Amino acid sequence: MGTASNIKTLPYAELDRRIAAEEARMRSALDRYRECGLKWCTSSSFQTHSIPLLHLLQRFAPDTPVYFLDTGFHFPETLVFRDRMAAELGLDVRDVRSPVGKMGQLDAGGRFLFASDPDQCCYLNKTAPMAAVLPGYDIWIAGLRRDQNAHRAGLATEAPGPHGTRRYHPMLEWDSRMIWRYREQHQLPEHPLEAQGYFSVGCEPCTQRFSLEAAAEAEKSGRSGRWAGLRKTECGLHTELGPAKAAAAAEADPASAPTPSPAAAGKNAPNRP
Ligand code: SF4
Repeated sequence: MGTASNIKTLPYAELDRRIAAEEARMRSALDRYRECGLKWCTSSSFQTHSIPLLHLLQRFAPDTPVYFLDTGFHFPETLVFRDRMAAELGLDVRDVRSPVGKMGQLDAGGRFLFASDPDQCCYLNKTAPMAAVLPGYDIWIAGLRRDQNAHRAGLATEAPGPHGTRRYHPMLEWDSRMIWRYREQHQLPEHPLEAQGYFSVGCEPCTQRFSLEAAAEAEKSGRSGRWAGLRKTECGLHTELGPAKAAAAAEADPASAPTPSPAAAGKNAPNRP
């Protein structure tokens, strides 16, 4: 994220216009889902740049359940920040944990899987627990932005999702300047580790503090300070449960293509304004 000094040289009116346009698009999408009687949820990692989406949902759809993948490997500061934001924004935060205990997550050498097989670690602690939640919803709202990495740059705002859901990416066209400006407009706090140089905060073992070397590596690899030294560049939540996999599954089996209908799908009650 840029500093206040360089962002303030940008034309605020243009940022404000783009933010207002994106807000209107999101409000309209949520109104459409509501009119169709659809049920939605979101997931959040409670980073600084996650907070504008949670604030927007609090304004437009305050009953939205917010799922937090509690991997057991988060920084303590993230858990404190999650609790603070839940209280300040009045969020319905629901922790989701892997049914596989940590002693069942060791490799043959007795090490935690994040060291030797991070894809499997993410599968056990994020993908599988979130996959168990999704059948109860029609729409999964995820705060991915096109400017974050190459995988996200190619996403669509709405796309087929896993388990009969559709994925909705309302922040796709936002960039870091808009996020900064929105936080300033609404006086939203930052994750406590950001001041220590962590601009992308995930699980502690897989997160790297900012440095010039790390920035150069991130620029080359698209990892943004995560999974340093590994081939992994994207969270399994957005690959294994991402739109590409879902679209491929639907193409292979057209009968599985999602047609959100809470009545037909046996979903619970739709979200309310
Ligand atoms: S980010 Fe790292 S520690 Fe967290 S679930 Fe994935 S591999 Fe495991």
